[in-house]
Amino acid sequence: MAQLRSIIVGLVASILLSPLATVGSGEAAAARKVAKTKPKQPQSSAKCEMPKFKIVVDVGHTPDSYGALSARNDPEFGFNFRLARLITAKLRSEGFAETRLLVTDGKARPSLFKRVSAANEGRTDLFLSVHHDSVPDKLLETWEFDGAKSYFSDRFSGHSLFVSRQNPHFATSLMLARMIGRQLKQQGLHYASQYTLPVMGRYRRQLLDKDVGVYRYDGLIVLSRTRSAAVLLEAGSIINRDEEMELNSAERHEAVAGAVAAAMREFCERR
Ligand SMILES: [Zn+2]
Repeated sequence: MAQLRSIIVGLVASILLSPLATVGSGEAAAARKVAKTKPKQPQSSAKCEMPKFKIVVDVGHTPDSYGALSARNDPEFGFNFRLARLITAKLRSEGFAETRLLVTDGKARPSLFKRVSAANEGRTDLFLSVHHDSVPDKLLETWEFDGAKSYFSDRFSGHSLFVSRQNPHFATSLMLARMIGRQLKQQGLHYASQYTLPVMGRYRRQLLDKDVGVYRYDGLIVLSRTRSAAVLLEAGSIINRDEEMELNSAERHEAVAGAVAAAMREFCERR
């Protein structure tokens, strides 16, 4: 794992140096502007031509603010980075030539506005944010991993999809999330159903599609401030000890990337 981690750090460093993927601190002013203004002009194109359809695959969190920690103490950012890279490559190889990977640096909250800014400046058609899930702190249990006290919860597993009603393309976002959810289901994967439960507290969400696991999450900046359709994918729970291992496997990576690509093809064919 240590070797894998150093490879990821190297890859991330090279991507952060690439002008295509990076959103530098020079754009902080633009990010602040985005923070103040609500999106007015919807910018998703009415139809979908695969080579021209612009998809931004956003790597959730940053190397500095890495998100959740897995049951085996690996940061969420690494999981997000590996999967988002694969999804990007898959979409490109299937004809979505304008797909790009978005890696953001810095602290958590400014990075959210950098993401929105990057998506809105690039006249994106779809913003897809890739994350991995954990549980509220009160559900954590302890175990020993690699000689260190570590935290886990095997109680919940599965992926989930989130959309915001505040997004100017809510209907399109919901349609896309449903299509991705259906494809994930066809791959034999199940969604995380716990978000409707009282035990989730402030993380409780309204389930918009109980067949494929699409939830409503209005307040999320990357979903509500983007002018394009936007979907957030929690690809699975890294705090669940078994699912963490699955989420590291090539099979699971292929299943998720394949599901996203199949959903996008379906979306384009229908337009
Ligand atoms: Zn996350």
